[in-house]
Order: sequence, then structure tokens, then C-alpha cells
Amino acid sequence: MTRDCSRLKFVSAFFFFPMRSLLERIGLRYDISAIANAYYREAFDRVPAADKAVILPHCLIGAKCKARFSKEDGVLCVNCKQCRCGEVRVLCEEKGWRFYISPSANFTKRLVRRKGIGAAIGAACDWEIERGIRSTPITLRGVRLKEKKVIPQVIRMARYDCLNNDIDWEVLRRMILNGAPGP
Ligand code: SF4
Repeated sequence: MTRDCSRLKFVSAFFFFPMRSLLERIGLRYDISAIANAYYREAFDRVPAADKAVILPHCLIGAKCKARFSKEDGVLCVNCKQCRCGEVRVLCEEKGWRFYISPSANFTKRLVRRKGIGAAIGAACDWEIERGIRSTPITLRGVRLKEKKVIPQVIRMARYDCLNNDIDWEVLRRMILNGAPGP
């Protein structure tokens, strides 16, 4: 797909997003995060490794998580192996990326600004994605957080009920290792 087509698809997807239930009723279902991931991917890849991060929501951590919480950095994973966040932390360290586990969407926004993160992979459920689209300016050059823009890549939760949330960890691994677009 040419850059112009990709841009048009991206703009149309966000323009029609408020009408998606109507469109779905006539069989036009689209995955907004997949379209945004594909559009932003090249820009994401251009960001230096040191400015990239994976920021996971705390709903993915193990029920008996051993991590401490830091007001500055969120949940400090010690890779106790009760969940897969630890292996993602190790993968990020190998790639020279940063890794965080955040307790809330607002914490994530402040973290990105405070830490000067230029591009981030995050995970969110459909409800959080919709809330983010409504509350955060999304531009052709990234998501605007006050004076800062960040290039996002998003993984939709494969399962969520606020207690037993989960993502496709292999998709996340591939996104970190070789830049395959998210689902
Ligand atoms: S691997 Fe990390 S995030 Fe997961 S339960 Fe252990 S310390 Fe917590």
C-alpha cells in the first residue's frame, strides 16, 4: 500500500470511528488498532532503541506478583515468572528498549512525557482504546500528549474481564523482535 493510501485509510478509520456500530450493522467491521499500527509502523521503526518502550497495563501481572511499586516508574517487575511480563522486560533490555508496567492510563501518559519516550507499544482492551481515542488527540505524526508526540503500537487484549486479562504474548514478542504489525 502506498503512503498516501495508508494515510487515507488511517484518516478515514478515525473519521468513521464514532459511526462504527452503524457500519458494523451493514457488515463493515474494521480494527482501528490494526489500521493505526500499520500506519505508524515505519515511524515507530525509525525511533532510536533508547527512546522506545513497552508499557504494559498492571492487569496483566500475576495474582501473587512480587514487584514493588514506584511512583516514578510504576510496577518494578523482578521477573518472578508468575506472568509473562518478566520475559518481555528481559527482551526489552536485550533490545535496548525501556520497559514499564503502568497502573493506569493517566499514569502512562505522565510516564511517557516524564521519561521522554518517543515510541511505545502498549496493550489495551476495546474499552480503553475507545476511551483513548475520545480523550487524546491522535494526529498523523503520533499521539499528542501536551507538548510531546509519541508513536504508538497497540495490542488489543485477547481476553479481558478486568480480573483475568490476557494478550497474545507471541504477537508482542514478534512486534518487539521484528516489527511485525500487531493484530
Ligand atoms: S513476572 Fe514481574 S510482573 Fe509478573 S508477577 Fe512476577 S514480578 Fe510481577
